[in-house]
Amino acid sequence: MRILIVGGGIAGLAMARALELQGVSAELIEHRADVAQGGTGLYLPGNAARALQALGLLDSIAALAMPIATQRILDSRGRPLSVTRTEDVWSSCGPCMALPRAALHRALRDSLGNTGLRFGTSITAIEPLGATSLATFSDGTVGEYDLVIGADGVNSQVRQNLFPAVRPSYTGNLCWRFITKDIVGVEGWTVMLADGMSLLAIPIGNDEVYVYADMAVGESQLLGKLPDLPHEALLAAFAAPLAPLVAQQPDHTQVHVSPIEQVVMQEWVKGNRVLIGDAAHASSPSMAEGAGMAMEDALVLAAALASASSISEALAEYTRQRKPRVDWVQRQCVARDKMRRLPGWGRAMLLKLAGNRLYKRSYTPLTRPL
Ligand SMILES: Cc1cc2nc3c(=O)[nH]c(=O)nc-3n(C[C@H](O)[C@H](O)[C@H](O)COP(=O)(O)OP(=O)(O)OC[C@H]3O[C@@H](n4cnc5c(N)ncnc54)[C@H](O)[C@@H]3O)c2cc1C
Repeated sequence: MRILIVGGGIAGLAMARALELQGVSAELIEHRADVAQGGTGLYLPGNAARALQALGLLDSIAALAMPIATQRILDSRGRPLSVTRTEDVWSSCGPCMALPRAALHRALRDSLGNTGLRFGTSITAIEPLGATSLATFSDGTVGEYDLVIGADGVNSQVRQNLFPAVRPSYTGNLCWRFITKDIVGVEGWTVMLADGMSLLAIPIGNDEVYVYADMAVGESQLLGKLPDLPHEALLAAFAAPLAPLVAQQPDHTQVHVSPIEQVVMQEWVKGNRVLIGDAAHASSPSMAEGAGMAMEDALVLAAALASASSISEALAEYTRQRKPRVDWVQRQCVARDKMRRLPGWGRAMLLKLAGNRLYKRSYTPLTRPL
């Protein structure tokens, strides 16, 4: 079977790995020159660990990651609203972990054997050709494929080609991310909430911490250059334990700024072309499930391709298995984002009374086997 994977992020690389484990070699193109994406971190809940285990990579990733034993929500003054022991929810799946994003990308890339990898290459066109697809690449070459897998992220060109009416929508939050020295000794996954803002820090090993801040920002403010990290607003809103990470952030720190967008669509398949990962279902990061969902997509699609009697049957099986789980994550992300917009006293009361229960309720369905 001739398979083309477009995009070498977590979804595309995991897809190539999952296919190799099924004895199938694909071609993968990635428009970046290199796989590494430095400067930010990733939190991986237990179902991502289970997916890494199925990809044969859990031990090597765990060796690069910090285990995360608790998820704490604090108010803007640092007072605890809720603390969840991750083991209470995820023990049947695997450890919750955090690591530099680049480390996961590199490990996935290095796990590949027979996949034909081409960096610095994108597609310029994909056209149906009877039962196959003809892809034209940015280097002028063409290829004919039995299956094209669009793993090219939230602004997917493959999705644009298949479903031009579907566009990412802005969730109303702009976020800033950076990695810095852990000068405060952050305890597990720790988020502080203020009105219209959040500040999150997660230790990622080597005395470093991944910091994420977001703020409600109107869409009109996204035109032109995106605003730099709003130091003053964050320091006015937040106290210890996390404010010093913003206050003492060195000038040379690379800060990534991006609008948070989601992609909600009903169909992921057209003919012999299919979408996986953020291309199909980008969500706000409130559940930190993007990597887990991308890797699960890859495992389910590879297994379906290995067992089904035709590609169309495999793609139907992939959608049948994945859609309810992904829909659940997207609904939970929306619910969490809404909760954060409650007035401060309402948010505090809800989280104090039911924080643990809400955590269990939103994640327990994801502990069920694929
Ligand atoms: C602010 C923020 C924080 C997040 N935090 C977490 C977290 O802590 N934990 C978690 O699990 N998830 C998190 N996520 C979600 C997670 O980052 C994504 O779900 C995940 O990266 C999706 O992987 P992907 O491979 O589908 O897409 P991407 O990572 O976007 O990869 C797509 C790849 O395709 C390439 N590409 C694009 N177009 C083309 C083309 N035309 N031709 C060839 N290549 C192309 C791109 O260069 C890229 O390498 C976060 C997301 C955001 C926005």
